Amino acid sequence: MENRSKYLPNKGDKCARCRKEASICLPAHRANFCPGCFVHYFENAVERGIKKMRLNRQDPLMIAVSGGKDSLATWQVLNDLGLDTKGLFINLQIDEFSQKSREAVQKFAEDRGLDWSEYDLKTEIGYTIPELHQQRQKKFCSLCGRIKRQLINRLAARENFQTVATGHNLDDEASRLLGNLIDDRQDFVEKQYPFLPSPHPRIPAKFKPLYRLEKKEILYYCELKNIQYLNQKCPFSKGATSKYFNQTLEFLEDKMPGTKRDFLYSYLKKDKNLVYEEPFNNCRECGEPTYVELCGICRLKNSLSRDNI
Ligand code: SF4
Ligand SMILES: [Zn+2]
Ligand SMILES: [Zn+2]
Repeated sequence: MENRSKYLPNKGDKCARCRKEASICLPAHRANFCPGCFVHYFENAVERGIKKMRLNRQDPLMIAVSGGKDSLATWQVLNDLGLDTKGLFINLQIDEFSQKSREAVQKFAEDRGLDWSEYDLKTEIGYTIPELHQQRQKKFCSLCGRIKRQLINRLAARENFQTVATGHNLDDEASRLLGNLIDDRQDFVEKQYPFLPSPHPRIPAKFKPLYRLEKKEILYYCELKNIQYLNQKCPFSKGATSKYFNQTLEFLEDKMPGTKRDFLYSYLKKDKNLVYEEPFNNCRECGEPTYVELCGICRLKNSLSRDNI
């Protein structure tokens, strides 16, 4: 498990809610909590997101799970809050890393009696992640992310789910926002909202229940809920630039607690037009909804087969 020693309170510090001995210190909130009150605070943050995003609590939710701390914490908290959930695991077939990811998901689900589905990338699109990496190293994480997003849409629709929850946390969202603003990617900025309604009957709505919670808070929640997540980096993550944005925000957070939260929330406060254009086409090759003639997965498959001629 990762270290959260930086957030340990001083000896004698009291819980802001019940005045028992505190076990975590949250400088961004100028508050310390004991374990029980921390779980209350954590669940409350997710509940506030559910209300703000006007999510219907009766709708079953598919949770995209990787075996890491964020996605398993998402599944745990939504299940504890009484929502109807099912896990979705896409096996990227990255050797030992994917095996361990799968084991973490399986153990989590078995221990709690939760239902989940597993799909193999190779079966779904004809390539594993290592096979794709052999042919396309440039900006590989953004390619992998696009494939996963499209596949999650398809698989959730296949299982008749209308909403998918993912484990993106406050740190992910704030650093992604910083990257998108620096590169002036306005269309990406729009699509980063923590709740995106469904634009098409076969494209589910998206929800990021942990968007109000920081990594350190999720780590402590996992510790308290005995979530045995996979604490290992994907071997292909090396070139990802998002870590620089994350480090920049961490530096500011350290000097001025609450900066990450203020930065992200100031963007969320702006009026958002969350009604998206209907995808106007069915992919010429696979029939999936797409804005253009061919969906992203078919375009990728075609370009890879051309390269191999
Ligand atoms: S680190 Fe990059 S390559 Fe690995 S799973 Fe994540 S997005 Fe895909
Ligand atoms: Zn307390
Ligand atoms: Zn297609």
